[in-house]
Amino acid sequence: MEFNKQHFENSLAFAQQLDDADELKEYKNQFYIPQKNGQPAIYFCGNSLGLQPKNTKQIIENELENWATLGVEGHFSGSDPWATYHVKFKHLLSPLVGALPHEVVAMNSLTTNLHLMLQTFYKPTAKKFKIITEFRNFSSDIYALRSQVALHGLNPDEVIVEIGNKTGTEVIDEQDIIKAIKNHGDSLALVLLSSVNYYTGQSLQLQAIATATHAANAVIGLDLAHAIGNVGMQLHDWGIDFAVWCSYKYLNSGPGAVGGLYVHERHAANTNLLRPAGWWGHRPENRFQMHKEFYPSPDADGFQLSNAPVLSMAAHFAALQLFQAATIAAVINKSQMLTGFLEFLIRTKCTNIDAAFQIEIITPSPIHQRGAQLSIAVKYDGKKLFTILSEAGFVVDLRAEKVIRISPAPLYNGFVEVFRLVDLLKEYARLV
Ligand SMILES: *Cc1c(COP(=O)(O)O)cnc(C)c1O
Repeated sequence: MEFNKQHFENSLAFAQQLDDADELKEYKNQFYIPQKNGQPAIYFCGNSLGLQPKNTKQIIENELENWATLGVEGHFSGSDPWATYHVKFKHLLSPLVGALPHEVVAMNSLTTNLHLMLQTFYKPTAKKFKIITEFRNFSSDIYALRSQVALHGLNPDEVIVEIGNKTGTEVIDEQDIIKAIKNHGDSLALVLLSSVNYYTGQSLQLQAIATATHAANAVIGLDLAHAIGNVGMQLHDWGIDFAVWCSYKYLNSGPGAVGGLYVHERHAANTNLLRPAGWWGHRPENRFQMHKEFYPSPDADGFQLSNAPVLSMAAHFAALQLFQAATIAAVINKSQMLTGFLEFLIRTKCTNIDAAFQIEIITPSPIHQRGAQLSIAVKYDGKKLFTILSEAGFVVDLRAEKVIRISPAPLYNGFVEVFRLVDLLKEYARLV
């Protein structure tokens, strides 16, 4: 099934036809669907917390069983010894971000990993100290950036340059980022961007930004919270220096689940690169000799601090197996159709989608500029529309009392669900 916006039709029968032809339709049965008003909810909130795969419980139970029967010996025996538990994630995560397996590792949480990466890669000097980031970055990223700057004894207001919102539009023009990189080139140390913005759903085109950053002799890092498992990426080929992510959004690994990081091999292989160190970052060959000298593993593993939180990582493993089976290419292909269909229906059914009407899609329309999310700014009473949707059994989210984010997740959402949602939006549009 090839994606073609022109071929969408505004009918329930057509939506049903798309569901029937969907090659990923069986995956919905592999997830638990939460209940709302005694009915299965229509869940469009996978960008905030992905649903629980049915195989998660069993895979966690396997590790509980190993712990019960093996005790400490589970570190080195059993079907999947805990001492090397993190290794199997490399081949599951690397295709999702376009990296080599040794450039990625599952560990910690997103914000922790961001701090670690900033400690290694933000090295301000008297001349080069500035950081470029996007306006409307996520709060935790801003706190991490500002506190790291302050830890260097610098003033965040003088160091951090925010791009975007100049024109009042919500979406960022990549050319503005590139211009800022050139303008601040002499004093620029670091660029930190969300690959997909949590608020607008915009997916940035990063290759030219990475090239401009490196031409300014600076480092580029990415937050992939809303990108991993959602949009296609080629971090290695783009030359991105580092990236961090969490796994409880599109990756369905459970609340607060273990995050991950990517470090380009040109840095990861550099064992002289200074970093906050812990025993799990030590070369595995002689990690347990417990000597004083720290010899980092010459790959992303060299940034690990602690031994793997196996129970949390078991849930991560369960969820990633679904991505491996479905393939990220098929997930993205369906995602583009599903969100494309959502946009088509809103534009077709909710006519006059402009100032006269009360709803505006702020997510970019071109498919390469977004993933599985449309952010809808509601000019009149966002809270009311949110309540109407919620009472009708839809799970979406409301930001700043005016932006409703709708995220159809390809592994468990379908075209009829999208059709039903827009039917309700249409009714609301008639009311106001
Ligand atoms: C979800 C999200 C986070 C969450 O950070 P945690 O450390 O996992 O709590 C951070 N940044 C962005 C952009 C996010 O979307």
